[in-house]
Formats: sequence, structure tokens, C-alpha cells
Amino acid sequence: IFERDNHRCIVCGKYVDDSHKFHHEPCGQEKSDIISGGVVLCNNCHYARHNTDKLKLIKTKCEEYLRNLYG
Ligand SMILES: [Zn+2]
Ligand SMILES: [Zn+2]
Repeated sequence: IFERDNHRCIVCGKYVDDSHKFHHEPCGQEKSDIISGGVVLCNNCHYARHNTDKLKLIKTKCEEYLRNLYG
């Protein structure tokens, strides 16, 4: 997943090294470690995805990104 996304956060483009955990989209009980179920997010965007009112916006970006790649 880090290689596919060139170590860039898919929301803001910031470099993310692979000591970080990628984000599962969807997350929670439906999450899966397949490549089409994960995206690279930087700390800020990852935090925002789970904990702020930007949650829906970032979730939509993750879903669109994966849809563009995998249909
Ligand atoms: Zn970011
Ligand atoms: Zn996450």
C-alpha cells in the first residue's frame, strides 16, 4: 500500500514513511488487509479521518481514491 501510494498521504500529499500504519477504508469491523482496502494517510489526515468533523470528507476522499484504482 505504501508503494502503491508512493509513500504519500492520499489527501494532502505529505510524505509518510512505512513506520506508520496505513488507514483501512472501510475501517472498523469491515476492515481488511487487502491492498484495495487500505490507503496511506499522514498523521494529521489520519487523526482527522477518525476523530474530527472532517471525518466524512476524508472518508469520501479515501473511497473515491480506491474506486478510481479498483472500480
Ligand atoms: Zn495528509
Ligand atoms: Zn485509520
